Amino acid sequence: MKVLVINAGSSSLKYQLIDMDTHAVVAKGLCERIGIDGSKLTHKNISAGTETVFEKAMKDHSDAISMVIDALVSKECGVIASMDEIGAVGHRVVHGAETFADSCIIDDKVMAALKECIPLAPLHNPANIIGIEACAKLMPGIKQVGVFDTAFHQTMPKQAYMYALPYKLYEEKKIRKYGFHGTSHKFVSGEAAKLLGKPIEELKIITCHLGNGSSVSAVKNGKCVDTSMGFTPLDGVVMGTRCGSIDPAVVTYLIENCGMTAKEADAMMNKESGVLGVSGVSSDFRDLTKAADEGNERAKLATEMFSYSVKKLIGSYAAAMGGVDAVVFTGGIGENDGRYRKAITEGLEFMGIKLDDEKNKVRGVMTDISADDAATRTLVIPTNEELMIALDTERLLSK
Ligand code: ADP
Repeated sequence: MKVLVINAGSSSLKYQLIDMDTHAVVAKGLCERIGIDGSKLTHKNISAGTETVFEKAMKDHSDAISMVIDALVSKECGVIASMDEIGAVGHRVVHGAETFADSCIIDDKVMAALKECIPLAPLHNPANIIGIEACAKLMPGIKQVGVFDTAFHQTMPKQAYMYALPYKLYEEKKIRKYGFHGTSHKFVSGEAAKLLGKPIEELKIITCHLGNGSSVSAVKNGKCVDTSMGFTPLDGVVMGTRCGSIDPAVVTYLIENCGMTAKEADAMMNKESGVLGVSGVSSDFRDLTKAADEGNERAKLATEMFSYSVKKLIGSYAAAMGGVDAVVFTGGIGENDGRYRKAITEGLEFMGIKLDDEKNKVRGVMTDISADDAATRTLVIPTNEELMIALDTERLLSK
């Protein structure tokens, strides 16, 4: 069976067609500028090693998906003879609130519940819903599955996900920690158990997804028990442009004393903060590291703040779980940059964490980078959210 994985954003749509027998990506691509002038589809046929660009107006997501299907079955650059070869479609959905603790097959009832989640992710969920509706229209009879960024975190105990605010804000406004990147944390914790050769039900794992957005999760016996992102993806670690955890009173101070509107404060914390805000150099860690090496003090400070914020979470999640068997690094930074893995784990020898400097040079390959005598394993595991979505889709279809 082949599964089509769709990740629909407000004006873009990414897709991968995955062969479930081999887990190989057969084709993938990106629709850009949907509903805007200059829209285009870039389609890659993986086995042929070709890339084809289609420049054609896409007035909405329905047009985009229609073009994706045409590309997949096209004689010139296609990979399947007809749409019948697509067994199911798996959709990435950002927010599933408390309604979705697992992925699910989409029907009318699920669509209605998805729409109820919109206020919690007003920028993302509407695009995801439009993507699902467009596929349902263009691929009638093909099962659609929703896979939620928040679902894996739904196992957190109440003491971990509640905020110490008046209880009615939770009851009436659904304000609580939800956590994000769940598909990635689930995938890499599962792969970690395989690499360690132990059942996940017997392991305490801390997963560090470090990319433009970063989050850390505590996974005990295969279930998420805490995670660093919160009600929104702004909380937790210092990120590329997001501030991570700060004293919430800073926001009221900015509004009351610094002439900022709530909207401006929100934009500043999401888009102008993090390592970009501190360094004034870049949100991209490659640029940031280069500037720090060239002697830029604020860039150096930003890198130190980032590593320190991740290190503290590792310590606190080990405390939350009563120990840790493995720390996993994933995401663009976690997979590729040994310097940050080193900086984050330095000083954690008291927890049994110790790297092998030679093995820590690895980039983008699943590797145990711990020193031979380390009691706690440190692993690099490339994430694969698309494969996780496809696997969940296959699992639900076989139920
Ligand atoms: P996103 O959260 O958008 O998925 P990624 O997981 O792709 O982001 O991570 C992007 C970050 O990873 C950037 O800060 C980038 O500098 C860093 N990164 C990506 N590749 C490398 C690499 N080869 N070496 C060092 N850093 C890298």
